[in-house]
Amino acid sequence: MENEKTVLVTGSTQGIGYAIAKKFTLLGYKVAINGHIHEEVEKACKSLQQLLPAEQANNIIAAPGDITSPANVDEIVGAVQEKLGSLYALVNNAGMTQDKLLLRMSEDDWDRVLNLNLRAVFLLTRKIARLMIRQGYGRIINIASVVGEIGNAGQANYVASKAGLIGFTKALARELAPKSITVNAVSPGFINTEMTQKLSEAQKNNLLASIPLKRLAEPNEVAAAVLFLASEDAAYITGQSLGVNGGLSM
Ligand code: NAD
Repeated sequence: MENEKTVLVTGSTQGIGYAIAKKFTLLGYKVAINGHIHEEVEKACKSLQQLLPAEQANNIIAAPGDITSPANVDEIVGAVQEKLGSLYALVNNAGMTQDKLLLRMSEDDWDRVLNLNLRAVFLLTRKIARLMIRQGYGRIINIASVVGEIGNAGQANYVASKAGLIGFTKALARELAPKSITVNAVSPGFINTEMTQKLSEAQKNNLLASIPLKRLAEPNEVAAAVLFLASEDAAYITGQSLGVNGGLSM
């Protein structure tokens, strides 16, 4: 067991975030579940609590809220600390797409994606880094994307946000290393989630042709990389982007 260390996973009601929260739960971490839809957060929280003996159910809490609002960020972090104690790890997983070719992309399409995928990460990380610096330890893991490294037509806003997140990861890794806080990114390729279920058959077939391992990944396989970076074994790894992409970028 990982000694009941506390982790906050943003956007953990479904998909990759839920898989990450589930793995942390099964390894004995205390986990705060976040998402912008309160009922979904409660539902995910309950389903994870059911994996534990009744006396440990309080180790999993709901920390709902839209993280693009600074007031919500303060509230979420306050609630997590109050209920689960000091934070060991932050997983910045919440993210969204709003795909369009550049010439059809509105300012709103651009702003919404950058606001969640990058600005909210800045807000939450700034708040939590302050606490981690005081503690003298911590792990920050950002969920980026392979397209932040190799680009993707029709996703200029999303790709800019994920490339920005990888840059943010490296800058922060340098800033926080003297305080024994590591900062890394996990960059998934194409994962079997709602986000990729939106793709047409033709898009999926094209995609599979370009992936050396010839399949999408399961959310669990991304979660495994996150759990490794959060573990004691990864203490000497910082400022990296770990690709979980079936060989798509190499
Ligand atoms: P998803 O769409 O299935 O889930 C998104 C989660 O984010 C939900 O829990 C939702 O409640 C939460 N969320 C959305 N807006 C929010 C807000 N304003 N405040 C708080 N929470 C909010 O996502 P997914 O497909 O599991 O992707 C998770 C992460 O992985 C994202 O950052 C995504 O960019 C990245 N990613 C996904 C894939 C993929 O193939 N699915 C590939 C590469 C990277």
